[in-house]
Amino acid sequence: MGTMGTSQEHDEMDECVQALARVHSFLHNELVEADADAIRVHLHACERCMENFEIETTITEMIVRSQPVQQAPAALAARIQTMRLTRR
Ligand SMILES: [Zn+2]
Repeated sequence: MGTMGTSQEHDEMDECVQALARVHSFLHNELVEADADAIRVHLHACERCMENFEIETTITEMIVRSQPVQQAPAALAARIQTMRLTRR
């Protein structure tokens, strides 16, 4: 019986948590180049984060795709309806 050196993994996890915490900003290009580079470097060096990052990227892309990019403003939609009514 003994510790299996899990404390080392915790240190790694902390770095990963910090990297993943900024992934959203990274994906939205909200980070300065130096911070974005730091995350890119960590993701390429860390297999665990790379997996997580790919999941995050996939989820973000799914969210972006599910949202209509060009939403017609309510005023424009109303105007189109009015046009249809007056054309009769
Ligand atoms: Zn990591």
